[in-house]
Order: sequence, then C-alpha cells, then structure tokens
Amino acid sequence: MMAEERSAPGVPAAVLDPFRRAGGRALMLGHVHPDADVLGTLLALGLALEARGWSVTYGGPHPAPGVLAFLPGIERYGRLGEVTGAFEVAVTTDCPNPARTEGLIEHARRAARTIVNIDHHPDNRRYGDVNWIDPSAAATGEMVYDLLVALQLPITPAIAMNLFTAIHTDTGSFRYSNVTPKTFRIAGELVAAGAEPALVSERLYERRGSDALRCLGETLARVRVSEDGRLAWLALPAGAVPETFVESEELVNYPRSIASVRVAVLFREQQGQVKVSLRGKGDVDVREIAARFGGGGHPNAAGCTVPGPLDRAVGDVLGAVEGVLGGDHVVLAARAPER
Ligand code: AMP
Ligand code: MN
Ligand code: MN
Repeated sequence: MMAEERSAPGVPAAVLDPFRRAGGRALMLGHVHPDADVLGTLLALGLALEARGWSVTYGGPHPAPGVLAFLPGIERYGRLGEVTGAFEVAVTTDCPNPARTEGLIEHARRAARTIVNIDHHPDNRRYGDVNWIDPSAAATGEMVYDLLVALQLPITPAIAMNLFTAIHTDTGSFRYSNVTPKTFRIAGELVAAGAEPALVSERLYERRGSDALRCLGETLARVRVSEDGRLAWLALPAGAVPETFVESEELVNYPRSIASVRVAVLFREQQGQVKVSLRGKGDVDVREIAARFGGGGHPNAAGCTVPGPLDRAVGDVLGAVEGVLGGDHVVLAARAPER
C-alpha cells in the first residue's frame, strides 16, 4: 500500500475499505500447516463478517491440527483443493510468502476482486492488493482485533476465543520478547469479551495422550548441546515418534530452555525433506539463517525446509548457525546434556 493513511486504531484505511460493504463473499485463506495465529484470525474475521451478512469460505492447503479442534468455528475450515466461485475479498493472515498457500493464492487472485494481506512477519512479500504488515504486533491476532474494533464489528465470545488463542500461542503463553503492553491490553479486552484463558491452556497443554510422555522422554534424550553451550538442537528421524505428537508439542522450546543456549534448532525429517525450526535469544537473528535456506520468519523464531537426508540437513544448518555465533567447532564437539 502506498499511502499509510491511518484510521483509528492504527488500521490503514485501505484495509478497512473492502470490508465496509453490507455483505458479500469472502475467502479466508490459510497458510501451510496452519497454527492458531492464522486459524484464530481467519475465523475471528470471518465470523464477524458473517454477523454482518457476509458469506464466508474458510480453508487452505492443509487441514487444521487436532489440537486446535476447540477453536469456535474450526469445523468450517478445511483443506481446499482449488478455489471455486467469485469473492469480493480474499484474506490471508500470518502468511509472509504467497508460496505458503501452495498455489491457492493464484486461484484466489482469479476468484477475488481484492486480496488483503494482513501479517506481522517483517519479511512479508507484500503480494496482496492491500498489504498491512506490522512487525511490532506479537501476533496477527492483535492486528485483527484492531481491525474488528475499527470496523465496529462485534467481538462475540467465539471471536474472542479465536483471537485470544492466536495471541496466546504466538507469544508462548505471554512469555516471549514480542509481548508488549498492547498485547496485555488486547488480551484483557478479549477475556472481558468472553475468551477463557484457563480453557485455552487446558486444551493446548493438558490434553496429552497416554503415550505422549513416553514419546517426550524418547525425544528429549535426543537433545544435543554444543561444547560451549550456546547451541542446542534436536534431530527427529522420520517415524521416530508419531506426527500428531510432534504437532501438538512445541519441541524446539526444550533445547531453547537451557540457560546458556543462544540458538535452538529442531529438525524433523518427513518424506525425504527436513523441516527446520530455529529459535534465537537476544540479538541473534535466526531469520537471516533461515533465509539462506529459502525460509523466513521473525528475528527470534524462524524456519525453513531443506532436502534430506537428516544428517546432512543437520550439518548444513548447524554450520550456518555456527558461523553466525562465531564459534569454533561447536558443532563437532557436541555432547548430550548432563543427566
Ligand atoms: P515454526 O518453527 O514452524 O514454528 O515457525 C516459526 C516461524 O518461522 C513462523 O513465523 C513461520 O512463519 C516461519 N517459517 C517456518 N518455516 C518456514 C518456511 N519454510 N519458510 C518461511 N517461513 C517459515
Ligand atoms: Mn503462522
Ligand atoms: Mn503469527
């Protein structure tokens, strides 16, 4: 968007315009392996538009993970093979790169009059007709909250639950450095509007299957720490533990939780490829490392997908991390954490 014309509370006017009509058809388009930030924001905006007479279609390249089945309206979201019909507006949220729709954005461009791209990733490619990118937002959930307020759309308990969960997960339960006073102000408003923090925590963290702790034990035994303690990683071969287990745990947080660690990396081998999650602490910019391998993200949380086999992916990515950390041979001198 060229002119940053502002409307209260900080939402550009060009973002508001497509939603001002009394009704219409909207497509809420998600990114690969959808998380709570993308799903919560698409559902929140979609449900609010429906209350104003819009007809809304929700979907993306992959279905919602089971752990998020509690999000109100999630049954409306599913895998989209293609986009059919005509839409006044198609919305992407939390999606920095059009490739993360696996081609659906091209369908959406043909089907929709206006593509609205709402995101908090600093490396967003600005692929929409309207682009609203705010890297100061802890989650896209904060931005969509502001959008609903600016549009005077209702914040029902269902909408509040969706936005609260989006913010809760992208801030690691309000623990990460992206949290600001505004994050808490919005979270407070959402709780006042009917979001239930205890229910969200219970659904996200206290619904493990009976086998999950055994899987966790096996997984944590694979954590490795560099000799100097600044780098820790976890490499999971394909089939080592069930996919559903990996999806419902933020496993990269375990190597990250070691005090001396500056960079933590999770490697997941799947279908010959390796999905890499990077987390940095302080001023270490892991997005820059992910970008070298064709990925992206935030300065402190980024990811990429690299070709297998697992050992080579681990060597290549840790080599790049080593370069950024400026250590000598930290990787080759790896040791298991003390017991
Ligand atoms: P994750 O490690 O999957 O939780 O992702 C952390 C951050 O990195 C998120 O903001 C993602 O959008 C971003 N990210 C993860 N994988 C990729 C990828 N392959 N390409 C671009 N960005 C990614
Ligand atoms: Mn996301
Ligand atoms: Mn996000």
